[in-house]
Amino acid sequence: MRLVLNANGASRGSVLGRARVRLPHVLEVAEAHVEDVDAELARLHDAIHVVRGEMRVLQERLQGALASEVGEFLDLHALLLDDPELLQGLDTLIRSGHYTADYALRLQRDRIAGVFAGMDDAYLRSRIDDIDQVIGRLHAALHRREADTGGVAGEILVTDSIAPTELLQLQAQGVMAVVTAGGSMLSHSAILARSLHLPLVVGATKALQKINDGDVLVVDGGTGLIIREPDAIDLRAHRTRAREYARERKQLNRLRREPSRTLDGVDIKLWANAESREDVAEAHALGAAGVGLYRTEFLFLNSSQLPDEEAQFRAYRDVVLGMTGRTVTIRTLDVGADKADRTGLALPNEPNPALGVRGVRLSLLRDALFETQLRAMVRASGYGPVRILVPMVSCREEMIAVRAMLKRVVADLQREGHAMAEGIPLGAMIEVPSAAIALPGFIGVLDFLSIGTNDLVQYLLAVDRNNESLGDLYTPLHPAVLRMLHGIVALANRRSKSVSVCGEMAADPVLVPLLLALGLNELSLHPATLLEVRRAIRGCDFGALRANVPALLRAHDRKSIAKWMQAFGSVRAA
Ligand code: PEP
Ligand code: MG
Repeated sequence: MRLVLNANGASRGSVLGRARVRLPHVLEVAEAHVEDVDAELARLHDAIHVVRGEMRVLQERLQGALASEVGEFLDLHALLLDDPELLQGLDTLIRSGHYTADYALRLQRDRIAGVFAGMDDAYLRSRIDDIDQVIGRLHAALHRREADTGGVAGEILVTDSIAPTELLQLQAQGVMAVVTAGGSMLSHSAILARSLHLPLVVGATKALQKINDGDVLVVDGGTGLIIREPDAIDLRAHRTRAREYARERKQLNRLRREPSRTLDGVDIKLWANAESREDVAEAHALGAAGVGLYRTEFLFLNSSQLPDEEAQFRAYRDVVLGMTGRTVTIRTLDVGADKADRTGLALPNEPNPALGVRGVRLSLLRDALFETQLRAMVRASGYGPVRILVPMVSCREEMIAVRAMLKRVVADLQREGHAMAEGIPLGAMIEVPSAAIALPGFIGVLDFLSIGTNDLVQYLLAVDRNNESLGDLYTPLHPAVLRMLHGIVALANRRSKSVSVCGEMAADPVLVPLLLALGLNELSLHPATLLEVRRAIRGCDFGALRANVPALLRAHDRKSIAKWMQAFGSVRAA
């Protein structure tokens, strides 16, 4: 029977297809035994092998939008999959209890969950979600029939929640849209879905009760509308919407050569966050002003060997050459125990890695490593304009130390006869609240600022950016975040310093009016959503938004911020 559910559209596109319902608690497996222990062990090990292969394929396919964050999940999951405690525990259970692999998985999951639940460290406690995902994958692999290997092509997945890593795999399998009972428009999964152009509806609280496997659905990722068993009128409306979306994509493509200019003629500088060769080429083709964030950790994390000066120099130089005279902002290493690290650079066993030795703290501890990196960057500046950006700055002293090191490096390279630009701008990521608050005392030692909202939000709100179970708590739509952004931008504008936002917040067209209202006229984002953001900018009146910033800053909760966005920021989601 026809039924309409209203939820939240998180990634646009109208899709018609059959539902594939994935119920939670896949591990509610009853106790069961086997006779042939060896065959059961072989079945389990085959599944482990399959899952390892899946993760490898995902890792290889991963690039661009959110690559580092999704990569972190994958790295962690791959590690868990190799964990002797998990694996030997499973073998022992099957051998000693003659349990089925499924039941052994469940027992082992419950045992590990018990240990994790008792941990003091909230970060570690939250890792149980990762264990669940790995065990869930193993369970799925145990039950995959040959016929299933084509995945759920052409279907709409209806589930309680979705991890960013899964989205990539689902899209590769041909899933056309995803509906989740939980989730938020600003979750990592939602951001990733938008950059993959995979329609997603979140917050469909009744979906799992009301939709059954095989039901025909129309799902609109723009409005959040879900229709079960649509009638002729619904189908016509879906066709019209699908045509509109297709037309819209065509129009978006026409914006490749248009300026990122507001209705009242204010030019907004759109930089690209780019790491791979493809990103750089795309950024160039879409008319990005330059590269606003080149995360150098990719060079370090993708191999188990530290890249030497030559390797780094060639990588940085090639990005500079690829941007043909547009500025490239290269960020110094931001590795730390919470970012995947195969090089052994990050300190092991830090009790609280997110607050540990990462970013500039690590660079200043390892000065030979840092000097090598700065030398490579300065040498790359001989081929086109370069800015150097320092991550995780929390106080003035760190920038003074970096400046001194940069000065020494420049003098050495000059003596050695290398070509280089004069006066390479040195800037700081503003992503630690102390840096934002103490900024009046050290903006003088910065040539430019780049606001890392991904970390700023996590540190300001004390909400782990990688912990999906915190859901809506991780949001830039918090009065404290908006006030802090406003303060940083106002100060930078008064002091005529270039300031941009390079966190994911800048990649979301929905948030463009809000960022412009706060005074930003530079944004840096992955090329995947650059055209959507450009379109949003072209629909904004900068003067009117600025005039309404007092109301935004008075908003005392998320609801009133959302109301402000409805009233003044009526730009459609991309
Ligand atoms: C940020 O924190 O917003 C940022 C851009 O840096 P990263 O995501 O690499 O930590
Ligand atoms: Mg950061």
